[in-house]
Amino acid sequence: MGTRERPSLWGFSLFALTWQFCVWFGWGLVVLAVLNLRATDITVIGWPLVVVAGLAFLGELRPVIASNVYVGSGVAISTAFVFAALYLWGFTPAIALQATAILVGEIMNRKDVWRILFNVGQYVISIAAAWGVLVVAGVTTSAAAPRTEFHGTDAGWVLASWGAYHLVNLGLVAGTAASGGQTWWESFSDDFWYYTFSTLSVLAVSPFIVVMASQAWQFVPLLLLPLMAVYLTAAVSRDKERQALHDALTDLPNRTLLQQRVESALAGARRDGVGLGLILLDLDRFKEVNDTLGHPAGDALLEVVARRLVGAVRPGDTVARLGGDEFAVLLPDVDHPTDAIEVAGRIKQSLAEPFRLEGVLMDVDVSIGIALSPQHGDDVEVLMRRADVAMYVAKGEQTGIEVYDVARDPNSPTRLGTVTALREALDLGQLELHYQPKVNLVDGTVVGVEALVRWRHPERGLIPPDDFIPLAERTGLVHRITAFVVKAALDQVEEWWKQGVQIPVAVNVSMRDLQETDLAGLVAAELDAHHLPPSALVLELTESVLAQDPGRAVATLRELADLGVLSSLDDFGTGYSSLLLLERLPVAEIKIDRSFVRRLDEAGADPAMVRSIIGFAHGLGLSVVAEGVETSLAWKVLRDMDCDVAQGYRVARPMPADQATQWLVERVVRGPAERAGLRAVGGTDHIAR
Ligand code: C2E
Ligand code: MG
Ligand code: MG
Repeated sequence: MGTRERPSLWGFSLFALTWQFCVWFGWGLVVLAVLNLRATDITVIGWPLVVVAGLAFLGELRPVIASNVYVGSGVAISTAFVFAALYLWGFTPAIALQATAILVGEIMNRKDVWRILFNVGQYVISIAAAWGVLVVAGVTTSAAAPRTEFHGTDAGWVLASWGAYHLVNLGLVAGTAASGGQTWWESFSDDFWYYTFSTLSVLAVSPFIVVMASQAWQFVPLLLLPLMAVYLTAAVSRDKERQALHDALTDLPNRTLLQQRVESALAGARRDGVGLGLILLDLDRFKEVNDTLGHPAGDALLEVVARRLVGAVRPGDTVARLGGDEFAVLLPDVDHPTDAIEVAGRIKQSLAEPFRLEGVLMDVDVSIGIALSPQHGDDVEVLMRRADVAMYVAKGEQTGIEVYDVARDPNSPTRLGTVTALREALDLGQLELHYQPKVNLVDGTVVGVEALVRWRHPERGLIPPDDFIPLAERTGLVHRITAFVVKAALDQVEEWWKQGVQIPVAVNVSMRDLQETDLAGLVAAELDAHHLPPSALVLELTESVLAQDPGRAVATLRELADLGVLSSLDDFGTGYSSLLLLERLPVAEIKIDRSFVRRLDEAGADPAMVRSIIGFAHGLGLSVVAEGVETSLAWKVLRDMDCDVAQGYRVARPMPADQATQWLVERVVRGPAERAGLRAVGGTDHIAR
């Protein structure tokens, strides 16, 4: 019985009723049989009973389980001997034999008490059904008057008794199908096709046992041979099926079996109104292991990973290998995303400890995607695809674990809607720039502004760049956005310069701009059109993407530097660029990411990291800007560490053009004495999140 849940003897579901029936009625029959059993029965029957009973016990230890998939009504070889006892001596000895054989077999196989209770009842009731057929057919037999031979006319009731046994047995097992996520009929018909042949093969031997036991009991053990043949055939077919459904290397369920399990878990979840989770994971840099240490090491790694995964989940969860370095985990009962995230965290943790391969310690990182049902879909295909999308997001953004999010699904209609909408937004002029000042940390003079793009959406209000720039980057739309931003920023700067605010504007460009377009050409043309010198523009690029294709990016940066346009390395400290790369890069400035700056505000924070970044940048002759300066404390600490420039809410929030103009004119033209950096300015940049 694949009983996941602890049965209740008081419930009234089909599951509970089947349980109660098997336990109360089945065990009632056992008690009756034992009370009816007389010592004389045993002595009357003699050797044949000893042999039949002995072989029944032996058979119980080796049930003919034709399949691992259909846990449940595996046919035991002992059934042939129990039926022989039924035909020979009648109901009482047969029941006593069946009950004790199962009891001994299950105890020796260390089965759960509940399961033993149920199984004894289940088989005893099935035998009782066969006995019922004999009673109806008017067949009488007992220890005192045993049946020792068969006639052609007996075939009818013999076959009918097998049928009754088989159908009742399957029916009772199907009554507990709910625990495996199936309906009664699904379970019954599945098992019917699966077990009918092997059950009948075993039962077919029973009349021969009867005849042999009465005429030459010494021959009875020989009948074990055909029974063993049935067992072996079933075992071979089970092995074949196992191979078809399991991964040869790790012995974990493969994609096919996972799909089957997800399907039945979905059916169960739908019926019980619970949710389920599907986790997909992919090892990062597995190819490196294969390439550097060879395939045997790669295989060894996968085996260890498989073991750790199994250790990290609960017993009811399914860990499967989908192929290559891709694994999946099915969580059959998840109500809240946090539950699945917690399991994903445990999985990540279990792989965090380095792996020892051929004497080398290897770190293996993993990207995990989670999809949940019913939120993200209620069929296998969709769930797998969505978990896959989430996994790629986790990999691409190096976040480790991601739950599926439509907004980041390249295939989702909503997202395609956004791409189209974004393209339209460009055409309709819905994108606008806000400006945030950068000020000198020592005297507060304004040294420039950064232009930050926003989307003024007719329904959703002001949308922040993080919500659409990544999408634009993936679709190539970012080139058009960059072209717009450069032009709009220079329009604004031209205006400011005319008003006497001669400061440069910094524009964020994406890596794709550096790699795929003639950015230098665009910049040169725009500067020309606005009659501005190259010093009016600064380009900011993020560090994290630089590592991907430094060659082309470096060439573009050189062209820009030759033009006289300075570049700045944004979000410094969050990416992977090596110090060597930084030395080669023609940048004039780095911007320390705000995650580092934020830590300066924490009590007892150790600013060593920020201090060394500053020292190191200065060593290369670069200017240092601190992003996200929100407090006076951070301001002071940064100034004491010789940081050059600050940008952040402490100075001003990003402001729309007119407000920024007012702010700048006040500080740069009218009152440079009122130092910008020494007063905090509340912003008006309200962004819809
Ligand atoms: P970034 O270039 O690092 O921009 C700084 C971000 O920090 C801005 O967020 C700004 O509003 C925010 N910020 C400034 N001061 C503070 C502070 O004191 N505390 C905190 N918590 N945050 C502060 P925003 O405007 O949402 O921009 C996010 C990112 O979007 C930018 O990060 C930039 O990478 C990207 N982005 C913005 N505009 C453009 C653009 O025109 N083109 C491209 N390709 N990317 C852009
Ligand atoms: Mg920036
Ligand atoms: Mg930044």
